Amino acid sequence: MKAYRLLEWQQPARLVEVPVPKPGAGEVLVRIGGAGACHSDISVMEWPKGALPFDVPFTLGHENAGWVEKLGPGAMGFADGDPVAVYGPWGCGTCAACIRGLDNLCERWREPNRPRGGGLGRDGGMAEFMLVPSTRFLVPLRDLDPAAAAPLSDAGLTPYHAIATSLPYLAPGSTAVVIGVGGLGHLAVQILKAVSAARVIAVDIAPERLELARRLGADATAISGPEAAREVIEANGGRKPELVLDFVGNDATLALARRLAKMRGRVVVVGIAAGSLDWGFGKVAQESEWMISSWGSLPELHDVIALAERGLLKPEVTTFPLARVEDAYQALHDGKLGGRAVVVP
Ligand code: NAD
Ligand code: ZN
Ligand code: ZN
Repeated sequence: MKAYRLLEWQQPARLVEVPVPKPGAGEVLVRIGGAGACHSDISVMEWPKGALPFDVPFTLGHENAGWVEKLGPGAMGFADGDPVAVYGPWGCGTCAACIRGLDNLCERWREPNRPRGGGLGRDGGMAEFMLVPSTRFLVPLRDLDPAAAAPLSDAGLTPYHAIATSLPYLAPGSTAVVIGVGGLGHLAVQILKAVSAARVIAVDIAPERLELARRLGADATAISGPEAAREVIEANGGRKPELVLDFVGNDATLALARRLAKMRGRVVVVGIAAGSLDWGFGKVAQESEWMISSWGSLPELHDVIALAERGLLKPEVTTFPLARVEDAYQALHDGKLGGRAVVVP
């Protein structure tokens, strides 16, 4: 089969021929219906050896959905042909985080040579098939189409986790700001609308992303830049927002988040653009809470799929055949997508 593999650090991945894997005891072979292209993959391809606690080679694609192709001996709970989303962070299952369902925060993930999951150290879904180590990491999709649903497992789950952990801040009358309305951000707008009463204000550098945000329910928008903080506060009746979600994470957006943070407000940084912030007493709003967010839990992925089944969450998807996977990443890199690129073998 064809697979889009990272063969060397700091090089683009390459589409190469590999054998179809065979599921061993407890494992599942999934036929890929769609694999989302995440901005993190661009970082993974750019970062030097040692930046991540695992090594090359592996197949990219950590945002996957498809159908159960074959259960290995002893694998239970699913039947051949079942449509499934693949939960991405494969935790150890036994540490203090994993036993709470928080595989995304597995305490063993920073141990030497510890893959994060398929597409991040182990073979992912930018291929015709993918091996999943346990049926524990599969979530039934029932009536959802795998190509349309693939983004839910990261671009949906990651903002859901950031928002679910912030719900106490989102009482009626509150406001949430979404910085960066890309793959994750366009789903963040929908999740905020579906699970909270908050007003939503979206910020992006691209006017067409702001148009998308409005179409998806954002109450107001502002172009990212030196005037953004003033415009957001003005659009919010002179008040700072209760929650700021930063899906970029560079120096400029962290500085914007700081200007927007209110006393007793919350900022969740999701983007990994390696920005930094001079943080300390007198430099950030008093009693503001700051969190660096990491993917989401398995129970939360069940919530996200349920929201999508009820029509409350709908990824905007542009599909690319596997033969054109490079075009998908180029479009993502160049900021030419609205929503998510999904690679369909
Ligand atoms: P994307 O490229 O689809 O979206 C990024 C959006 O940010 C685009 O709409 C872009 O126009 C906008 N943007 C860029 N610079 C901006 C600025 N200065 N101000 C406002 N908007 C700006 O990317 P994505 O796949 O949605 O990923 C978003 C970020 O989240 C990436 O850094 C990615 O690596 C990271 N990520 C983190 C996690 C996690 O667990 N923390 C999980 C998945 C992705
Ligand atoms: Zn990702
Ligand atoms: Zn663990």
